[in-house]
Amino acid sequence: MRTLELATSWGTLRIAGGSRAGEGSVLLLPQLRLALDAGRPLRALVPMVHVVVSHGHADHLLGLAAWASQRQLQMLPPGTVYLAEGIAQEVEELLALHARLERGSPYGVRVVPVRAGETVPLRRDFALRFFATTHWTDTLGCCLLWRRRRLRPEYAHLTAQALQRARQAGEEIAEETAVPLLAYTADTGPELFQRESWLASAEVLVTECTFLRGEDRERARRWGHLHLEDLALLAPGLANRHLVVGHLSGRHTVAEGDATILATLGPLFAGSLHSLNADWP
Ligand SMILES: [Zn+2]
Ligand SMILES: [Zn+2]
Repeated sequence: MRTLELATSWGTLRIAGGSRAGEGSVLLLPQLRLALDAGRPLRALVPMVHVVVSHGHADHLLGLAAWASQRQLQMLPPGTVYLAEGIAQEVEELLALHARLERGSPYGVRVVPVRAGETVPLRRDFALRFFATTHWTDTLGCCLLWRRRRLRPEYAHLTAQALQRARQAGEEIAEETAVPLLAYTADTGPELFQRESWLASAEVLVTECTFLRGEDRERARRWGHLHLEDLALLAPGLANRHLVVGHLSGRHTVAEGDATILATLGPLFAGSLHSLNADWP
């Protein structure tokens, strides 16, 4: 597992996780008790209350039943899973089957089917907005929105007394804003970035870079994954404060992959570059 501490306008956002194509992607935001994909049965996954499952591929889903089982065993309240409505029933069946095999009671997990474009509240100051990616099977990415109230710009120059008078007169001096703090693209092809151009301005962009070699260009396109050349084209236009890449193919060692990614994207991307690529035991 890797840990990152990223400076954002909200404060330091802590990320723990690891990612490898075919072997498992898990991204934990412990401050929000939120997991983005549950590709491995990890001890650190268990305390997470909310789990987003981007799609049904095993490397994004394999840890889910273990998470539900462990929460039950440790007498933690059942968590909530957010996933595309197209796989909701099958995932419910999967969890029910696991619980039956354990000869215990159902896990009680709340399965919430969501659609692209939908926003669900996570807690008072955070929400998740979902969007479709361009992987070869239906896949949802998500954006972590930080909701906060701020003074409307037209009131910004007023003194405290003037603001109080305006408030007493019944004027609405504050407004709610939603800051796209982190965007997670899960598995995706490059077309996503044209369709969802706002991705380039999320404070933290977590995406994949599965393939690196020229000979894998066609494989990336066919299966809806990003190739390093795709990211090299996108990087100069990305205004993100942090770019986090993962989902490296097993064709490369993590050390070799990270070095190639850093050498290629480092000079092209203005923000900080991070890797979630990890070797699972
Ligand atoms: Zn994957
Ligand atoms: Zn996939």
